Parts: sequence; C-alpha cells; structure tokens
Amino acid sequence: MMETHNSRRRAFLKTLLAGTAASTFGFPAIVGAASQRVVVIGGGTGGATVAKYLRRLDNSLDVTLIEKNAVYTTCYMSNEVLSGERTLESLQFNYDGLKAHGVKVVQDEVTAIDHDGRLVLTKGGVSYPYDRCVVSPGIDFRYDQIAGYSEAASATVPHAWKAGPQTLLLRDQLQAMTDGGTVVIAAPPNPYRCPPAPYERASQIAYYLKQHKPNSKVIILDPKPSFTKQALFEQAWKELYGYKTSNAMLEWWSGDANAAGVVEVDVASKTAITEFGDRVQAAVLNVIPPQKAGKLAFDTDLVDSTGWCPVNKLTFESTRHANVHVIGDACMADSLPKSGFAANSEAKVCAAAIYALLNGLEVESPSFSNGCYSLVGKDYAISVVGVYRLSDDGKLVESIPGSGGVSSATATAQDRLFDASYAYSWYNNFTQDVFR
Ligand SMILES: Cc1cc2nc3c(=O)[nH]c(=O)nc-3n(C[C@H](O)[C@H](O)[C@H](O)COP(=O)(O)OP(=O)(O)OC[C@H]3O[C@@H](n4cnc5c(N)ncnc54)[C@H](O)[C@@H]3O)c2cc1C
Repeated sequence: MMETHNSRRRAFLKTLLAGTAASTFGFPAIVGAASQRVVVIGGGTGGATVAKYLRRLDNSLDVTLIEKNAVYTTCYMSNEVLSGERTLESLQFNYDGLKAHGVKVVQDEVTAIDHDGRLVLTKGGVSYPYDRCVVSPGIDFRYDQIAGYSEAASATVPHAWKAGPQTLLLRDQLQAMTDGGTVVIAAPPNPYRCPPAPYERASQIAYYLKQHKPNSKVIILDPKPSFTKQALFEQAWKELYGYKTSNAMLEWWSGDANAAGVVEVDVASKTAITEFGDRVQAAVLNVIPPQKAGKLAFDTDLVDSTGWCPVNKLTFESTRHANVHVIGDACMADSLPKSGFAANSEAKVCAAAIYALLNGLEVESPSFSNGCYSLVGKDYAISVVGVYRLSDDGKLVESIPGSGGVSSATATAQDRLFDASYAYSWYNNFTQDVFR
C-alpha cells in the first residue's frame, strides 16, 4: 500500500508541476480553489478507516464523516464479553482520534443520497455536497427468513450480531441460566459478517459454561455443511469441551447431516425449529439471522437483487451510481470475507483510488489482506490469514495462490497461547489504525 501511495504522490507532483508551467504560459492560476469534498457515511470499521486515510493521503481534502452513534462498539472481541473475559466498555471508541486527523465528524443519521445533485441528506435536515461519497453501513438482517423472529423478538431472543446492548442481553441471559440448561445458537447461511464468529461464540460460551455451569451445553444449529477453520475448531473443542463424546459441552449439528438450519422460532418457549421440523428447546436462544447490506444501502439504491452492493473492484465505486463508493460488509468483494480486517483493507484501497480519481491519476491495481484470530478458550487461539488481488480481467477479487494459511494442526499449547497473545495485540493495533 505505502509503495503504491508513494508512487502516486510522485505522479501527483508531476501533475502539479505541469499545472504550474501552464500558468506561467498565460493560463489563469486558480488561487484558493475550494477543496474537494468527500462525505463518508458510517463511522464503523470501513468508514472510520477511509476517512482517516483520505486525510492522511491529502490533508487539503474536506472529509466529513456522518455516523449516527457517538461511540462505536467493535464486534471483534465481543464474544469475550459473553464469557466474562472482557467488558463492553473495553470495545468502545469515540471519534476524537479522527477529529485530530482533521476529519469533520457529524453525529446524524443519513436518510438519502441525491445522486444527481451529489448531496447526502440527513435526518437532522442538513444536506452535504460531495465530489465523492463513501458508504460503509455494515449489515442488516433478513428477519423474514425465520418465521416467528423479528427485530422486536430480538429484545428477548438476541442476535448479538451488532455489538452493544444485544451483547449484554445475551451475556445476562447466560449468567441467569440455571446449570443444566442448553444454549442454542442458530448460525446463519453464507454470506454473513465474520465467517468464524459463530464458532468462536460457541467456544466462548462453552468456556463460560465449563467454569460456571458444567452440566450445561451449547448446540450450534447450522444450515451449512462445513465452516471456516473447521478442523482446527473441532480439534480445540475435543481438547477443551469433550466434543463428540457423551459428555460434550459443545455440539455442532450440520446442515449436511440433518438439515439443522433454523427456519422458525417460537420466541415464547425459546424453541428453534429446523428445516425438517426438529424442535430444539433452549434455555438461552441466540438467533443469528441471514444477512444483507445495511438498510442505508437499500434506501440509497446501491443494492442489486442479491441484497448486496455491486462495485468496481479497482475503486469500490458503485456500479449503480457514479461517484459513490461502497466498502465493508455491505459490498460484494468476492473471495474477501465480510470482516473488519477486510473492511479496513478495502477502505485503504478505496482511499487511494479516490485520491487518484480526484487528481486525474491512474488507479493502480490493489492487493488486499485479511486475517482472523478466533479465541476458542483460555490462552488458546487459532488463526487464518489471506492475501488477495484482482483477477487478470480486473473484475474479481481472488485469493493469491500459495498465500496465507491457517494455524498448524500440530501446534503446541505454547503456540496456541502465542496465537491468543497475537489476537489481543492485533486488536490493539487494529483499533489504533482505525480510530486513532
Ligand atoms: C461476533 C462478531 C465477531 C467479529 N469478530 C471479528 C474479528 O475477529 N475480526 C474481524 O476482522 N472482523 C470481525 N467481525 C466482523 C466485523 O465486525 C465487521 O466485518 C466490520 O465491522 C464491518 O465494517 P463495516 O464498516 O462494513 O460495518 P460496521 O463496522 O458495522 O459499521 C457500520 C456503521 O455505519 C453506521 N450507520 C449505518 N447506517 C447509518 C446511517 N443511515 N447514517 C449514519 N450512520 C449509519 C452504523 O452506526 C455503524 O457505526 C466480527 C463480527 C461479529 C458479529
């Protein structure tokens, strides 16, 4: 990234020099030209990163970030709140760091984009003109795919898939559960935010139960026949939670074997009903519904029939509306998973592309990275990393063959401990990169 940025800077200087020469040969110099305006919507992982990096690339840019909440709570590490290893407050960030980079931070909710007039409109009644706009609204839920479940029902049967009060509700229910109860997690179908997170969640809940409610168990009802880092998760579950024994504290019911996808929920009795009519009653029920791009992406006509936002992978500019870019979970980025790490990587690529586009420079072909640590127990983590590039036709983000990998299956306890300490240090470095 930095190499790319430096070469762009050099090209930019060349352009500036050419412009200076033109002025001396009789063209009028533009003195004090208004700065170019970028409006970023959504101050989560993608939005905060792109706002900060735009200002770092060019501090003459007028960058406004519009976010509806005063404080952002990271989903990453929120599974540790469920096991009591962390407080919710330890996951919260304000926008002072971005303000220090010269980003104008506005707390308001965006209601519409006037694509023809290049205006962002807010609930507070203000309109913000832009040369380029970046939208990073995250995800929303397809509540209609699970009969009996709804946003209202999530007040008693939490999804806890947007960190905050929902996380605390699930934690409180786990703490109030009597020993011997069953916790059921209804896992979502692909694609969804953070592929390993339902399995990390089950691990953290099993870890909590093992310490405090040893006669209890957690069952994952999954519509999928397999999941990311599966062999490593299952190995850890065997070592830590008696997986696949008669005393297992953690069970995974796969979509392949017994159509375990949850299609209906009886909220009153906390019963999950699977595709084949199996009824699993829970003491604590956590429903993670199927997902789609955040509501704002629908309201601003950035979504296609898939429920996600199509973009040009070189620039992350929407293929539906010019001058508007979509990054993070809401966009379709092919092989790149919907993760905070990926949103941050896309945000940097998008910032560099906007800088180039605003300055008439060539946009260079990017590379992307993703990494994810899953904390499966005390001092025990597993990880996956990947590096990605554009396909030769520039249309798809694809994994670079031979790059990346997962933790070793033969790793020692010390290695797992190292991975756990890397996970915490990743969190500190990453949130510093996004918000400070
Ligand atoms: C349990 C769990 C664990 C996870 N663990 C990891 C992990 O270990 N590593 C990892 O990389 N990723 C992890 N993730 C995924 C990560 O949280 C997301 O992929 C990431 O937050 C996506 O960033 P985003 O910018 O697309 O959306 P978000 O971070 O959700 O940001 C969207 C922002 O837009 C704002 N917004 C929405 N609509 C409007 C509007 N109309 N007006 C103004 N503001 C608006 C929202 O308030 C929000 O702040 C995890 C997710 C979960 C659920």
